[in-house]
Amino acid sequence: MNFIETRGNDGHFPKEITFSQAILSPMSSFGGLYSPKTLPQLGQDFLEQHLNSHYKTLAKAILDAFEVDIDDAIINAALSLYDQFDDPKNPVPVVKVKEDLYVSELYHGPTRAFKDMALQPFGTVLSAIAQARNEKYLILAATSGDTGPAALDTFRNKDNVQVACLYPEGGTSDVQRLQMVTEDAANLKVIGIKGDFDDAQSALKTLLTSDSFKAKLQEQHISLSAANSVNFGRIIFQTIYHVHSYLELIRQGAITMGDKVYLNVPSGNFGNALGGYYAMKMGLPVEQILIASNNNNVLTTFINTGVYDLRDLRVIPTTSPAMDILKSSNIERILFDMFGAQRTKELMLALDKDKHYALNSAELAQLQAVFAADFCNDAEGEAYIKQTFAEGYLMDPHTATCFKAYETCRKNPALKTIVYSTAEWTKFSPVIAESIANQSGLNDIEALKVISEKAKLPIPAPIAALFDKPQTQSTVIDKTEIEQEILNFLG
Ligand SMILES: *Cc1c(COP(=O)(O)O)cnc(C)c1O
Repeated sequence: MNFIETRGNDGHFPKEITFSQAILSPMSSFGGLYSPKTLPQLGQDFLEQHLNSHYKTLAKAILDAFEVDIDDAIINAALSLYDQFDDPKNPVPVVKVKEDLYVSELYHGPTRAFKDMALQPFGTVLSAIAQARNEKYLILAATSGDTGPAALDTFRNKDNVQVACLYPEGGTSDVQRLQMVTEDAANLKVIGIKGDFDDAQSALKTLLTSDSFKAKLQEQHISLSAANSVNFGRIIFQTIYHVHSYLELIRQGAITMGDKVYLNVPSGNFGNALGGYYAMKMGLPVEQILIASNNNNVLTTFINTGVYDLRDLRVIPTTSPAMDILKSSNIERILFDMFGAQRTKELMLALDKDKHYALNSAELAQLQAVFAADFCNDAEGEAYIKQTFAEGYLMDPHTATCFKAYETCRKNPALKTIVYSTAEWTKFSPVIAESIANQSGLNDIEALKVISEKAKLPIPAPIAALFDKPQTQSTVIDKTEIEQEILNFLG
């Protein structure tokens, strides 16, 4: 399976590359992204065959269907990391919350958010390829709070890899910040920047495309890659849990083979939803993908009107900060898959230059055949957390945004909905304490204790331990100083 570029080829980069090359060098012509040239078709036979497969067996079969050019031994080592999840027998539990609503819990990995689903295996794969090629890599990551901890965890002390992780200072929860600034491995650098997540992400994109930065790295024999979902190496691992969740619903007797379901995804950079889109195109019976946003609702407007408009928009801080994003990177892969490279280039360059673009009505109809969208403000989200807790289920504020889309977007109420839960309650405790215990203004550790008591759940040891660890990563700088700071770190 080869990968081609979403904005077409400029002769500067290879036209077509393999999976391992897409992981190592994710940037392509005209600032585009690599996307699969074709998608494997799984079909009902495949689903029947994996009805009782372990998550790792299913994952291996899907990677085989993609014909990834990576040794089985490396893939198996990467997938074995799912054994460290809470329940090695089932790393992704799917829990019935209402008669027709099931929550697929993607947060049972080491950093308690869904980024582990892809970044755990991704770290092993990338470092193994780098070692096999005897090459050294600098991995850049920009985070709104969950990618950072997961990327640092997966690359900690890995050979041939150094990581520089950019986060918006003040834009994350205490737990997220502590997960990053207490990292003390010598190959990891954490950089707080004065700005929001879009600033961090655009700084990352600038560095990835900067020839002078790459030349300076080359002097030290270091190549550049990225751990964000611009990297297809993450997306591939995010197709798997959609298939797994569907099979779980069959195993639980909620649906029978072939029944359609709604996938309901709390979305920011659209990697999770893109994984669902690919799973659907590979043959998973999906009615529609419901896209949930918070008050930063550009995706809702885009899906409902076909207009992507960043003019006069600024990021609004919300209680679901992992979705405080305006430029949602993976929309580009949807545009490419639906409308081709030429049109994608036209639209994406318009977004860069004029800060907006509009689909025509035929394109909008094509988009709306797959996606529906709604957004949920903080007060609505808190009400869902409160009500759902009273009904016996504790969820985080990102997951809560899905409950609005579940109520407003489904056209066929006879179908089951799979909501993707992207973070554990421990990562966003203050808003949850406010919702379920009416206690406002708490800091993270106070809120964790309140929830733990109220919900009769222990605070997981790795989360509790964060508050006593030394904070070794203290760098907070201006956007303009990032390149120099990284070069200093590399020595
Ligand atoms: C990253 C993240 C999201 C958004 O996922 P995308 O794949 O970027 O759309 C939602 N919720 C949480 C908790 C996250 O960490």
